[in-house]
Amino acid sequence: PTPSGKYRRVVLKLSGEVFGGGKVGVDPDVVADLARQIAAVQQQGVQVAVVVGGGNFFRGAELNQRGIDRARADYMGMLGTVMNCLALQDFLEQRGVETRVQTAITMGQVAEPYIPRRAIRHLEKGRVVIFGAGAGMPYFTTDTVAVQRALEIKADVVLMSKNGVDGVYTADPRKDPTATKVDTMSLAEALQRGLTIADAAAFAMCDQNGLTMLVFGAEGADTVVHAILGEKIGTLLTP
Ligand code: UDP
Repeated sequence: PTPSGKYRRVVLKLSGEVFGGGKVGVDPDVVADLARQIAAVQQQGVQVAVVVGGGNFFRGAELNQRGIDRARADYMGMLGTVMNCLALQDFLEQRGVETRVQTAITMGQVAEPYIPRRAIRHLEKGRVVIFGAGAGMPYFTTDTVAVQRALEIKADVVLMSKNGVDGVYTADPRKDPTATKVDTMSLAEALQRGLTIADAAAFAMCDQNGLTMLVFGAEGADTVVHAILGEKIGTLLTP
């Protein structure tokens, strides 16, 4: 842990939906604000790695339903994540934060390949590392990749920013007005209750490997700062 907060090293998962501000493509104002928040915590000494989603461009399963081969559609989805990575990299560097993008699909002109030990080295040097192209494998999601990267680079926690929800509730808040948000829950219970706020694979991988996951809402001011500094936000899912 750093003097300023609970966590020394975090993996932050940002969904593509956040980048798009609800539309297709990248909303520069949104990405600039994400960069501002990441820069603020990075300057307090927390090592930040980011896993970026791509749902603002393509989701493989959706394209597949419209007739594109699933694996090819998934590759399109992965390529979309890289555009988000480059946008975030640009806004971070405009703030003077050194960054490296590492992609699971090699594309030497725009990013480094994913090399876990090098990623750790970048973090130790105070660079923000942005992971793109998911796992480089169809049929995976960036939620699962966020957990895998967090485990491999030995992060203290994986922080999942979500659109439209601010945590886990006792019941579906859209259907049940008495539903209340829970501050903590075990990953085992999340799995058993079939929660869909993150992928079951992501919950299971955390649970099996002793990694804590925070699920928190993207909406609102400074939610990324609160999450990274270990302040009270969202729901903490514990192994
Ligand atoms: N994807 C994939 N393998 C991965 C990560 C992502 O095939 O390891 C594809 C998949 O088609 C997915 C898309 O990339 O729908 C975008 O990622 P995701 O849906 O996880 O992004 P988010 O919902 O977080 O925006």
